[in-house]
Amino acid sequence: MAVLTIDLAAIAANWRMLSGLHPAGPVAAVIKADAYGLGAQAVATRLYREGCRHFFVAHLAEAVPLRPLLPDAMIAALNGLWPGDAAAYQRHAIAPVLGSLAEIEEWADRAPALLHVDTGMNRLGLSPAELDTLDPARLPQLLYVMTHLVSAETPQDPVNEQQRIRFADACARLPPAPRSLANSSGIFLGFGSDLARPGAALFGVNPTPGQPNPMRSVVRLMARILSVRTVQPGETVGYNGQWAATRPSRIATVSVGYADGYPRVLSNRAMACFDGQPVPLVGRVSMDLTTFDITDAPGAATGAWLELLGPNITVDAVAAWAGTNGYEILTQLGSRYRRVYVGA
Ligand SMILES: *Cc1c(COP(=O)(O)O)cnc(C)c1O
Repeated sequence: MAVLTIDLAAIAANWRMLSGLHPAGPVAAVIKADAYGLGAQAVATRLYREGCRHFFVAHLAEAVPLRPLLPDAMIAALNGLWPGDAAAYQRHAIAPVLGSLAEIEEWADRAPALLHVDTGMNRLGLSPAELDTLDPARLPQLLYVMTHLVSAETPQDPVNEQQRIRFADACARLPPAPRSLANSSGIFLGFGSDLARPGAALFGVNPTPGQPNPMRSVVRLMARILSVRTVQPGETVGYNGQWAATRPSRIATVSVGYADGYPRVLSNRAMACFDGQPVPLVGRVSMDLTTFDITDAPGAATGAWLELLGPNITVDAVAAWAGTNGYEILTQLGSRYRRVYVGA
């Protein structure tokens, strides 16, 4: 059994902290992918109570169930407008982020919308060439003109300043409208605008890699030890014998595996924590079970709990061991955990 605790008060505190760092305008909450795996409805409700009035998801289908929870808040769908969906957007009062000339035509001045301009990401948004051919009369009322930063978590990357300038140029060629620029890390670059759009930092991912994490820890994943056994030098643990004891070792088995989003690539690489004591993951992560060497944590026994994620074992640390980022660790968090929300 494993318990995933999500601290909604910490998310609210993180939102307040980011708001303080972004005096140029309000701070939205990006809650796509079920609020980065943490539960969009619970997160949205808590942040609305805190005063947040701007929310972003990726898809219309993610936005619709949030509408009744967020009266009078803007809910925008980042991935744009699919042909045929415009009426549904209007019915649910969801604002599309229009990202191409075709989407602008499809929306056809129905209601206020957002406009995405591309300043270097080359995924979505109007290119400078498309801006040239755009007839401003075809635009709906614009809630925000937005762009998205390529490398905001790398402050020394010159692309940040290039994008800031390209965005200002693009906005100067459009009808006057509020602007939205920074993601989590962009706020720490000091990139102010009329609306910041953080996601990851709200959920405790470090927006300033290489420096201490200014955000509060949000998730805690505790796994109960199902069994403990002692293995002798030369004996192996788990599939394919990928770890062998070199001393008499106490091995704890917990019921978390790659089917729970605990990556298999963590085999022989990650740490957990028992009572302040780091304990190494040994052997392969399997589908439903993972094994840790608790020899140096004599208090750990069957029924005790190991921290797999939390204040001691950060999302960013697990991501580094897995060769990915904290975003992926959070969005993969499994559906089999017992989820507990605190600080609602
Ligand atoms: C996901 C996303 C964000 C949030 O980014 P974080 O790095 O999680 O803060 C902001 N804007 C757009 C367009 C996004 O796709």
